[in-house]
Amino acid sequence: MSEVRLRFPPSPTGYLHIGGARTAIYNWLYVKKHNGRLILRIEDTDVERSTKESIDGIIDGLNWLGITWDEGPYFQSDYIQEHIAAAHTLISTGHAYKCFCTKEVLDVKREAAVAAKATYQYDRSCLHLTPEEITLKEAQNIPHVIRFKVPEGDGSVVFEDKVYGHIEKSYKDIEDFVIIRSNGTPLYLLSNVVDDIRDRITHVIRGQDGLGNTPRQILIYEALGAPVPVFAHMSLTLDPQKRKISKRSHGEVVTVQFYKENGFLPWALVNFLVLLGWSPASDQEIFTPEELIDIYSLEGMNKANSIFNYTKDDPKFITDPKALSINAHYLRTMPIADLIPLVKEELIAADLWDTAYAGEKKEWFGNTVDLIRSRFHILKDFSGPGRAYFSDTYEMDPKPVKKNLEKFEHIREWLGLLAERFEHLADFSREETERATRELADELDIKAGILINGTRTVVTGQAAGAGLFDVLMAIGKDRLVARLKKFSAES
Ligand code: GLU
Repeated sequence: MSEVRLRFPPSPTGYLHIGGARTAIYNWLYVKKHNGRLILRIEDTDVERSTKESIDGIIDGLNWLGITWDEGPYFQSDYIQEHIAAAHTLISTGHAYKCFCTKEVLDVKREAAVAAKATYQYDRSCLHLTPEEITLKEAQNIPHVIRFKVPEGDGSVVFEDKVYGHIEKSYKDIEDFVIIRSNGTPLYLLSNVVDDIRDRITHVIRGQDGLGNTPRQILIYEALGAPVPVFAHMSLTLDPQKRKISKRSHGEVVTVQFYKENGFLPWALVNFLVLLGWSPASDQEIFTPEELIDIYSLEGMNKANSIFNYTKDDPKFITDPKALSINAHYLRTMPIADLIPLVKEELIAADLWDTAYAGEKKEWFGNTVDLIRSRFHILKDFSGPGRAYFSDTYEMDPKPVKKNLEKFEHIREWLGLLAERFEHLADFSREETERATRELADELDIKAGILINGTRTVVTGQAAGAGLFDVLMAIGKDRLVARLKKFSAES
């Protein structure tokens, strides 16, 4: 069997968004599964919209995700002469022709068709120009495009899409399409095929929005005498209102950069994205790279569009809740030694890093990270809700402040008393702090929960977290007492 060769050909006209990343991931998985090769090709022929910044962003995003490629990046713009040469080959083999019809003439014909409620299609008036007529028009400098000549008769383009199944498009419904513009530049439909032929692409996995191009592209393959690759079109990812996702309407949350900056783990994002459009035969949702490569197949690709469940209106979630929960799974279960350097990076970025965390406080740091990660979703949480463990200046979440503190008239007095008990404990242990708390609650004839929730709120600023007495051990006696006393003294 010949080598399996796939490509990821982004147009560098913007950031790498989650849809593009998903396409890259499916291509990568297929290649890994079949010991093939992945080619990165930058389709940069739209010079006005392509930017160096976007190319760098795409490459950076793929690197961060761990999506590796075996060849490239190749740049489509380096092959423009080859695309033009292919168009001339098509003319010489009778599969394309020069068309001198002006836009004005075509517009009149199109409007007439619209008025007659007929479907407009180019009427092939230039198909039968004689060589003399062509020479004459060229001598007169009349601009021309090159059109592909769709086969005549009742036949159809037929192919089996690996996701959408049997697809047929009759020749009659395909217009003789333009492959070279009047300014001499090739169109995407042609360039993409010529590049795929040169790169010996065997499988094209791309978005369902490419499906409309496929019949015309197959005609080009056939006319150039090249083998037609296997096509697999992926369903789209839409927002809950069934709109296409785009940075303009959804903001940064659809860019890979967003996940990188917010402390997602790259593999967790890959794991999440894979499930947007593909399902395994079982209900497994968490996969190691090896497992995923092993069970991935085109058969599991969903025909129905998937939903990226993000609404800006829900402040609870910075992104799709499933993306958060998958990330949380990895963050909470990965080896602590692998997590420590990532947390360090996050704390450095937030200006919360203390070199002692890698020195004399190393053990404390490891234990604390392990303790607090059990409630966290993303690396940013270590500097956000986890800030109180690494700094004395942290924000108080207004909800628990209201519920656990403001609701109780005597809370400052009570927590002041608790601070004293803690201060005088001979053994500042989990058990002793708990005993002291319950004892004081009994004496005050209040529920221990009031002291527990109040203490948590004061010393961490948060409503929830790990068990309070574990939290107290991580905060440490001095900081605990100081924070409670400070709160108690405020009015
Ligand atoms: N450059 C095209 C895009 O980004 C590639 C489409 C294809 O995979 O053929 O949409």
